[in-house]
Amino acid sequence: MTKRADLLGMTPEEMEKALGRHFSHRDQPRYRVAQVQRWVLETLAPDFGAMTNLPGEERDALTKSFSLNEPGCAMVSRSSDGTVKHLWRLEDGELVESVLIPGKGRMTLCISSQAGCGMGCTFCATGFGGLRRNLTAGEIAAQYRASQRWSMAEGLGPISNVVFMGMGEPLANRKALFPALTILNRGYDVGARRITVSTVGLVPGILELARRPEQFRLALSLHAPDSELRRTLVPLEDRYPLAEVVGALRTFDAAGGKRITLEYTLIHGVNDHPVQARKLGDLAWDLKAFVNLIPFNPIPYQDWRPSSPERIQAFAAILEGRGVGMAIREPRGRDIDAACGQLRAEALSGGRTVRGAGAE
Ligand code: SAH
Ligand code: SF4
Repeated sequence: MTKRADLLGMTPEEMEKALGRHFSHRDQPRYRVAQVQRWVLETLAPDFGAMTNLPGEERDALTKSFSLNEPGCAMVSRSSDGTVKHLWRLEDGELVESVLIPGKGRMTLCISSQAGCGMGCTFCATGFGGLRRNLTAGEIAAQYRASQRWSMAEGLGPISNVVFMGMGEPLANRKALFPALTILNRGYDVGARRITVSTVGLVPGILELARRPEQFRLALSLHAPDSELRRTLVPLEDRYPLAEVVGALRTFDAAGGKRITLEYTLIHGVNDHPVQARKLGDLAWDLKAFVNLIPFNPIPYQDWRPSSPERIQAFAAILEGRGVGMAIREPRGRDIDAACGQLRAEALSGGRTVRGAGAE
């Protein structure tokens, strides 16, 4: 049997074409295309059998030619703070996570772009496991579809924001990321400004994102304000040194109205010295960037600790003194291991804001 084409991995335009061809071969009216697209993208029908305004033989024909390839749910964990983690099983058995994070008037979904990650950051649990494989565009976007259906069914309301802060480095999987962004934005109608791509600093990817006409948000995982220190935390620094990454951020910024966030994980005695706060303040000010301070979430294989609340406050005070918009992020979902660092940031409320840049 030939492999059925997965509708969930197609951009709306591709889906329209594929369905158009299918229905025209079957001498069906053109409006069938829009009917199916509504079932797929708005109603989030789990299968073709559910598409009740189509004749039975058309549902069967669709099932023979196409799939709606959603990941299977391997586990759901709910945190006492409302955070919900899904563990998804992909077709070949790989497991990836996504996390729903309720906030003030919003529901943020944190999704994965790869199974594992090849970037090897020394503070990240995902990095220690290495890259297993890239996800397809369909596998990325289907995390949204399955989570949205789950959230609605549980009475938690619709997803308002999507952040690429789960497993993997999204800009190392651009072949799937870019169509997935289109599917989320034009297919499922998630506003571009409500989608944040978080990267460890892959310069060509940042430049490619800057060329997109939509105003997707970018978060740079910075973690150190100078190259020497950053190299010890983020091995990619050797390939794309900070100066080059900052150049790419400027290009992104110049592409118009695209807000940048700097993510800074605070590790006790490693990157939380006042000197580093001052350097970070200068950089953020210069880039007009918003800063998220994230207490390090301890992982196996490393005996680092998060910075103490006093040190975090002192660090934050220096940024505030510099007039930089910033927030201290509280870890969410600790009790279900959802806060393994990948998951919070943009999503969370309760931080402080100085300069109008504000966390929305
Ligand atoms: N690869 C991308 C996106 C996934 S990681 C990136 O690095 O940006 C998402 C966020 O989780 C990053 O900001 C990363 O630095 C952070 N993170 C990873 N491990 C962490 C840990 N142990 N404690 C706190 N934050 C962590
Ligand atoms: Fe990969 Fe991001 Fe973890 Fe670094 S922090 S290893 S880029 S997932």
